[in-house]
This record gives sequence, C-alpha cells and structure tokens, in this order.
Amino acid sequence: MEATRIGVLGRGLLSIDEPVLRGDDLGVLRGDGLFETMHLRGGRPWLREEHLARLRAGAAAVELTLPDDATLVELLDTVAAGWPGEVEGALRLVCTRGPEGGGAPMVYATLAAVPAAARQARREGVRVATLNLGVPAEARPELDWLPTGIKSTSYGASTAARRWAARAGVDDVLWVSSDGYLLEGPTANLLWSTGDTLCTVPAARTGILPGTTVGWLLAHATEVGYYPAERMVTPAGLREADAVWLASSVRGLVEVRALDGEPLPRSPRTHALRELLGFELP
Ligand code: PLP
Repeated sequence: MEATRIGVLGRGLLSIDEPVLRGDDLGVLRGDGLFETMHLRGGRPWLREEHLARLRAGAAAVELTLPDDATLVELLDTVAAGWPGEVEGALRLVCTRGPEGGGAPMVYATLAAVPAAARQARREGVRVATLNLGVPAEARPELDWLPTGIKSTSYGASTAARRWAARAGVDDVLWVSSDGYLLEGPTANLLWSTGDTLCTVPAARTGILPGTTVGWLLAHATEVGYYPAERMVTPAGLREADAVWLASSVRGLVEVRALDGEPLPRSPRTHALRELLGFELP
C-alpha cells in the first residue's frame, strides 16, 4: 500500500516525503503504539466510530493517552478532504508513544488507494495455509499482564507469517493454537458458514483482534438470512464448512479457496455478504 497523503496532529497536511517521526520515537524503537486502518468509501471512513472505540480500548489497555475523538476525527477529515469519492481508500490512523525521553504521543494519519492486490483477492479469493502460533487458544487472555485484542503497531509476528506465506507459495495464513484451534490471520479474521449459521472465532476468549468488519457483519447477518455465532473450530472442522472467508477493513470479504492445499467450496452467498458489507467487486 503506497500512501499518497499524510497529516500529522498539530502540523496538518504534509508532503508525503517530509520527515514525520523522531528517530527515538518509541513506535519505531519498540513497536509501542496503536493503529487503525479504515476503509474510505465515497470519501468517508466506514465504521469510523467502531475503529475509534477499538483504538480507545487499546489505548486504555496499554496506558497511552490519546487526544479526544473530536481531535482525531478532525485529523482524519483533514487527510481525507477532497479525496475522489470513486477511489476506494485505506485511511490509517497511527498513535505511537512518542519520544523515548518522554513527551506527547505522536499521532498521524495516512491515506492510500486500496491496492490492486486487495481488489484481486476480493475477486479471486486466496489460498491459505495454517501456521502454528505455539500457544494454547485460550492462554493469552488468562495472563492479566498482557493486553489482548489490541491493534498494536508491533506486527513482528504478522510480517514473519506473511514472509513465511510467500516462501510457502500461499497468499495468506491462518494461525492455529498449539491445542489445534484456528485463531485469525495476520491481518484478517476468520469467517465461515455452516447451513444458515455464520461463524467467527470468539475474540474475548482467544485474545485475537475483535475485527470491526466481522463484528459489523455478524451484527447484520440476519439481513441476508444467517444466524450469527462465535465458535471454536479446528482445521478439520473448517473443511466441513459450506464456505470460508477472511474479513478485514481494506480487503473486505475474501473467499478462502484452498486450505493447506485442499480446495474449499465457493459460496453462492459471497456476493450477498459482500454487498451487505458494501465492498465493490471490480
Ligand atoms: N486480525 C488482525 C490480526 C488484523 O490485523 C486485522 C486487521 O488488520 C483484523 C483481524 C481485521 O480487523 P478489521 O476488520 O477491524 O480490519
């Protein structure tokens, strides 16, 4: 994703080439920060309030003091102003802890056109492999010191998983717990259907990211004839599903066409679900 716009709190819109962060910013040094990526459609960020609510919950969990919502919204508006309504965008809001020696958090927003690869995945689906995360499914939320379900800028495991996927010749991965349950992808939630039930993995129980896309979709599932459910599932269980998708803000809804090399069925209902979510299929 190549950002073409950037706005920095307190400085306004900058040229994309201009320096923004100090070298000792803790976001850079330690991945100590939070972010949200929103889908910009018709020039406006979709599910903005849900993203801001998740950001605020994450900030409370990592004791990061953020500006108020009105200030954050003003920054987002500044960056999105005048963006062509017909171009889908990815609007990213980043809040780091700021300089190592102390000081205010660093807050900025970037805007990029949704990459062609994301639109292609929407059209063609993805091939996915499972990847062991090495921890039991419910271990992380049991640790009272460890914030879970936060969208941290610390994405080392995600980028490693993505590199592993490229080496393995697949498009994406799904993490599996050491006790055999599917969790989430490095940048997406898992969604599947069995009969008239639309399922995802329980975030609170497993510590995965509570996705805004999957959350909205399950809250509106009845509009397209599905009952929503949160369930634990194994790779073998997922192979019994009628259809499997990845869900996230920028790619939207993407069919999983193969799991560990075995083809998965396409769903005649993908179109209705994607339409409900309001994502284009170019
Ligand atoms: N899980 C992880 C680890 C993610 O990074 C993301 C999004 O980037 C998601 C799930 C999907 O969340 P959302 O639908 O809010 O984009």
